[in-house]
Amino acid sequence: MKVAVYPGSFDPITNGHLDIIKRGAKVFDKIVVAVLINIDKKGLFTPDERVKLIEKAVCDMDNVEVVSFNGLLIDLLKERNSRVVLKGLRAVSDFEYEMQMALMNNKLDSEIETVFMMTAAENSFLSSSSVKQVAKFGGSIEGLVPDCIIEDVINQVKR
Ligand code: ADP
Repeated sequence: MKVAVYPGSFDPITNGHLDIIKRGAKVFDKIVVAVLINIDKKGLFTPDERVKLIEKAVCDMDNVEVVSFNGLLIDLLKERNSRVVLKGLRAVSDFEYEMQMALMNNKLDSEIETVFMMTAAENSFLSSSSVKQVAKFGGSIEGLVPDCIIEDVINQVKR
């Protein structure tokens, strides 16, 4: 079974992330979405809350699992019997950082491949931080995040 791990902060999941998950789920037998726990960076949602929001957004997909993880990505891959990291690319600006990460993971374990999927054009401007900004100042986030989590995001920025 070909398992790919899709890592990120997902604070919160956007339609850009969901598009990559959906497309990835057609290419691989299973996608493990991994919410990375960054103790230095406090997000809008806790890692557990982010996992729950992603689970809500992918509830109709039976080959997607959502986990949170702390530590090296290659260790999670081993634990999950996976050799593939799935990533989305929005713009040239993502490229340098993603290349560095892909090369580092491959250096740590030469069996690991990173597979990049191009963003859908309509999502190329979308990021979790821009969604948070828009929601914070009362703008509409319809079409930016999965419909089923819109209320959760709006309620959370108000707190
Ligand atoms: P963000 O930059 O929105 O905070 P993350 O750090 O959670 O996103 O990103 C996780 C992964 O999803 C990365 O591979 C990132 O390039 C990809 N990604 C983020 N937003 C989009 C998008 N709009 N379209 C395609 N891929 C995306």
